[in-house]
Amino acid sequence: MKKTIFIFLTLYCFLAIVIFAIYFFSKKYWLTHMFLILHGAENLKDSFPLNTTGHSQVTETSEVWVNKSAGEESLGVCPETPPNLLGPFQVELETVRTLEDVRKQVGPLLQVGGRYKPPDCISKQKVAVIIPFRNRHENLTHWLYYLHPFLQRQQLDYGVYVINQDGDGTFNRAKLMNIGYAEALKEDDYNCFLFSDVDLVPLDDRNLYRCFSNPRHLSVAVDKFDYKLPYEKIFGGVTALTKEQFLTVNGFSNTFWGWGGEDDDLYNRVMLRIKAISRPYAVIGRYKMIKHERDPHNDQNLNNVKKLKETTNTLDQDGLSSLNYTVIDITKNMLFTFITVDVHVPMGLTKK
Ligand code: UDP
Ligand code: MN
Repeated sequence: MKKTIFIFLTLYCFLAIVIFAIYFFSKKYWLTHMFLILHGAENLKDSFPLNTTGHSQVTETSEVWVNKSAGEESLGVCPETPPNLLGPFQVELETVRTLEDVRKQVGPLLQVGGRYKPPDCISKQKVAVIIPFRNRHENLTHWLYYLHPFLQRQQLDYGVYVINQDGDGTFNRAKLMNIGYAEALKEDDYNCFLFSDVDLVPLDDRNLYRCFSNPRHLSVAVDKFDYKLPYEKIFGGVTALTKEQFLTVNGFSNTFWGWGGEDDDLYNRVMLRIKAISRPYAVIGRYKMIKHERDPHNDQNLNNVKKLKETTNTLDQDGLSSLNYTVIDITKNMLFTFITVDVHVPMGLTKK
């Protein structure tokens, strides 16, 4: 009898240890899995730890590019995964916000021109955030309200450049991006360029606004497109390219006037010269687009669609290498650097 009880107890202990071990090793997986389910990613096959960036196409690491300057010798390099991220967060765009409100809330941590450096570590990259702009002040206020704290949680060393097209000639988003690149470089040795529409507000701060070893498309799941990629090759909205990548593709084309095509042309350039892009997982790359009508003087231009067949032939002549414009004014405040430019709208497109 005693022998039976002894065997039974031994088996019981053994089983308890096995169950405990299984529970211990699977806990991390289940926590992550439950998180994904709660955030609508039940059908995502790969699961991933909460604090990683997530890449759907390639696995990349970002390198240390920024040298320490005087006074920073004692600081360490910022960790690969910023420690204070929230993950998904609420974005509410109904409240009327003024620039003054935003300045009070997020201004104190910034330096003039919308510049920021993390106080406690050296950021791996120096990021110029470039926003193409004309007459979207309300959008810009929302963008600044959410994006400054977002970029700070990501421990980025960054500056915000709003490139404002002067006059009411036909809009040229891509040329404004090239101008932003050139003007930001006149100010500092940026090595990463983050191009963002003014109306795209990210919903998850694990979507890192930094550069990767391939040009990156960040706005993969926008509410306007039902949180899905509308087509596989889309490369508009929010993108990030290192200085080297941007130079390799000769920047954007300068000749896409009006709405459409300039982002697909950039995709063509990247595919011709670099042959790969990266994206965050859709569960992370979620965005709200602030609702808007098509702006005046930015009608769809069907000529742009034809131009997409020509990227191979135009890439070398049309881009950073042929960029010409005139700076009309540079104004700095705590939230951003506002650069008004004459983009040299061709005759015939000056007014509609
Ligand atoms: N944009 C602007 N003023 C204009 C037209 C465009 O500021 O008159 C900028 C703004 O950053 C906007 C981006 O260009 O988010 C892309 O234009 P739009 O939002 O109309 O494109 P879509 O929503 O169709 O991607
Ligand atoms: Mn838009």
